[in-house]
Amino acid sequence: MKELGIYIHIPFCVRKCFYCDFVSYAKKESVQKKYIEALQKEILNWKKSNKDVKIKTIYIGGGTPSCIDSKFITEILNLINIKNAEEITIEVNPGTVNKEKLYDYKNAGINRLSIGLQSTNNELLKKIGRIHNYEQFLETYKMAREVGFNNINVDLMIGLPGQAMDDLKTSLEDIINLNPEHISVYSLILEDETPLKKMIENNILKLPEEDLERQMYWYTKDFLKINGYNHYEISNFAKQGFYSKHNLDCWEQKEYIGFGISAHSYIDRKRFGNISNLDNYIKNCIEGGFDKNRIIEEEQDKKDEMKEYMILGLRKINGISIQKFENKFNENPIVLFKKELKKLFNEGLIIIDGDIIRLSNKGLDFANIVWEEFI
Ligand code: SF4
Repeated sequence: MKELGIYIHIPFCVRKCFYCDFVSYAKKESVQKKYIEALQKEILNWKKSNKDVKIKTIYIGGGTPSCIDSKFITEILNLINIKNAEEITIEVNPGTVNKEKLYDYKNAGINRLSIGLQSTNNELLKKIGRIHNYEQFLETYKMAREVGFNNINVDLMIGLPGQAMDDLKTSLEDIINLNPEHISVYSLILEDETPLKKMIENNILKLPEEDLERQMYWYTKDFLKINGYNHYEISNFAKQGFYSKHNLDCWEQKEYIGFGISAHSYIDRKRFGNISNLDNYIKNCIEGGFDKNRIIEEEQDKKDEMKEYMILGLRKINGISIQKFENKFNENPIVLFKKELKKLFNEGLIIIDGDIIRLSNKGLDFANIVWEEFI
């Protein structure tokens, strides 16, 4: 039986953060209701021709899935056969959940929470336009534990405007004292057309120098390692047994289907995404024009698939197993990508060690250069 991951996009937030260019809107409950109805139709339509699949993981992301009524989340999960699902995650933002909501999530089958904190420094949170403060995060975290969630991720960020190394050190210490199973640490990316970009351009806020941002990354890596968190992907750290199954499957080029606006899918060597216009998406779902929502982004031949496998696999700290590559593609990656690998090796960006090809420390800082070799 075919195994699949599911991604569900909930495109609503209380308010836009200043750095955000994700597809999310601050919309009223009436729009949310219509969207959920459309989403349900999309899922039901997909189910008609996909009866024999095992759903392994589900990831409910956004947006802020926790800002909508939890009954909507329950309704969606009720449509999916989650009997065999090993991991069902929902993204939660502090200040948008109470105990009842968390109980609803648990009763609906959700077994993993990913809480967006970013920093424990309230001034920094304000600067980037987060709606919550650290105290609200602590309350959310405490409630989640009381409700019985024993697999929690906390999101942090580095490279925030005005962030000093000491701010990061304090955030990391505060968080490991809470003992979450998983910690993600993302570098801030300054996206076009965001209020933050304008504030930086107008000298209202200032980003840390690139050197400092890299020092923050390396401090994080060392600090979390000492404190029992395995670094398993460029931005992800977890205790043994708590790696994100859903994300690992994506990095291992496993198949997944995405529902909702701008949700992406990877099926049968095709990468496709849904449109990001909320009204059109809803209209198409209501009228049964599901194909109109889909945009094919890439149809891979075997070479494309192998190149992509390299790009995704090198995100993992343990890299790519040559044997696994051979088992999947009947080709030896060392022979196939001789030119690319030689160049990256000579530049000190990758390490080839027995069966493993992985990023070096230098490669972690210049991962983009590595990906480019396989594009
Ligand atoms: S909560 Fe997340 S998705 Fe929503 S605006 Fe902020 S960064 Fe964007």
